[in-house]
Amino acid sequence: MAAAQLAISVLPATAHALPALARSLADVLIEGGTVYVGDDSPPVQADVVISGDRIVYVGPGGAARFRPRHTVAAAGKVVAPGLIDAHTHPDSYVRSPSPAARLNAPWLFQGVTTLLIGVDGSGTPDVAAERAAFERLGVGTNLVPYVGFGAVRERVLGQASRAPDGAELERMRALVAKGMCEGAIGLSTGLFYAPQSFATTDEVIVLAREAARRGGIYDTHQRDESSYTIGLLKSVAETLEIGRAAGLPVHFAHLKALGVDVQGQAPAVVAAIEAARSAGQEVTADQYPWTASGSALEPSLLPAWALDGGRPALLGRLDDPASLERIRTAMRDNLRRRGGAPSLLLTTAGTPWAGQTLAQIAAAWRLEPVDAALRIIRQDEHGTDVASFNMIEDDIRLIMRQPWVVTSSDGSDGHPRQYATFPLKYAKYARAEHVISTLEFIRSSTGRTADMFRLDRRGYLREGYFADVVVFDPDRYAPRADYLHPRLLSAGVDDLYVNGQAVIRAGRLTQLAPGRVLLHAPPAGSCP
Ligand SMILES: [Zn+2]
Repeated sequence: MAAAQLAISVLPATAHALPALARSLADVLIEGGTVYVGDDSPPVQADVVISGDRIVYVGPGGAARFRPRHTVAAAGKVVAPGLIDAHTHPDSYVRSPSPAARLNAPWLFQGVTTLLIGVDGSGTPDVAAERAAFERLGVGTNLVPYVGFGAVRERVLGQASRAPDGAELERMRALVAKGMCEGAIGLSTGLFYAPQSFATTDEVIVLAREAARRGGIYDTHQRDESSYTIGLLKSVAETLEIGRAAGLPVHFAHLKALGVDVQGQAPAVVAAIEAARSAGQEVTADQYPWTASGSALEPSLLPAWALDGGRPALLGRLDDPASLERIRTAMRDNLRRRGGAPSLLLTTAGTPWAGQTLAQIAAAWRLEPVDAALRIIRQDEHGTDVASFNMIEDDIRLIMRQPWVVTSSDGSDGHPRQYATFPLKYAKYARAEHVISTLEFIRSSTGRTADMFRLDRRGYLREGYFADVVVFDPDRYAPRADYLHPRLLSAGVDDLYVNGQAVIRAGRLTQLAPGRVLLHAPPAGSCP
């Protein structure tokens, strides 16, 4: 059906010589913008024409060839493929019962039209059922699902910290195969997180082979981005080994060097990945441009054993002098790893400590920082959000400049990256600091990402491709959210199209929800 639409609306090259009446009908003409097509070529002044869900023309003189129902005057603005968020957590939006929430506005106002979901090992193996639910309810952006190792392991083994037996491993393999055959683009893991952290490298390899067999990729929040267990560099080596042994491309989620023990190790990480790439291995990564990760005070500072059994058990341990002392000792080490009390910004809105660092509140209370943290933890039964400043600019910039790195938000509730990642990367690292060019910002957020994840006819402004298109003002495109106000929509996206339908028109939501679930097609014969 799409091909037929295309045949009707694309005119032969002689069309510009025809009289106005012979102009072809089209839905949208985006006129006179600075067009970045998504590849390495420099921008050109051009028009982009949309008909149905496709781009039907990119070039000069669109008005002479087409009679559009709607024209967007784009002079002075950037016209680019809709941006692709390579790793994010939109669950509180796309799974909301509220149609307004499901529009996915935090992403739309960044110019993002496609999100990869089910990351960190969370993706359900029931891809077909999930797709049906999303498309029945309606979502504002396209979604690309992974099948997740965590979801698979929990379904078979629960939270158990042991290896699967032969029958259990078979069931896990079947679940990964099911997810892949229903259209997941690959297997995601979050080996940092329990219970996924209980898995050996070999267990992961066995399951990754199920994705490999069906043309999938391996995406990982690796076992250690810091110095918690095996350390950053050994963790990178483990990831590369999984890719080699299972025979599939590996992708590092939110690549970083986290915490004082590993800060400055980005050159070594990049070198390890470059070496693997030179040896012929397919290795890529995504990155978010923020120096702080988002977390809560409790898991950031308390040792895991202190949280076993939940809050009542924790409070009991804090009332026991011997275990309190062990907790304080462990907290001092975790605080050191995270860069000390000045590196933790308390961000829960409405609390007396919002906007202060742990160092500031400890000084005001005349307490050691770990004791100030414990006082907050005792008082705040809902958990206290923190921005944990644990990455350095040199590492971020080096990773950002690699030609195998794409943009991701890792957007999670309570951190401004959910609302402002793409505008921040553009406004700070391209426009203000020239760490990368505007061309590289767009390339690393569109075509390169679509190539990396094999997204069919996405990521480029090309005739016949799906019409995911952003129009933004290069002077106004910028974040408004910050660590203390994480839920402010970004500025500067004036018009945005998803599958040919306007979701933002003249800076306002249209309330349309034309997003689709984009499925991977496994090779013939690899699925029942
Ligand atoms: Zn993650």
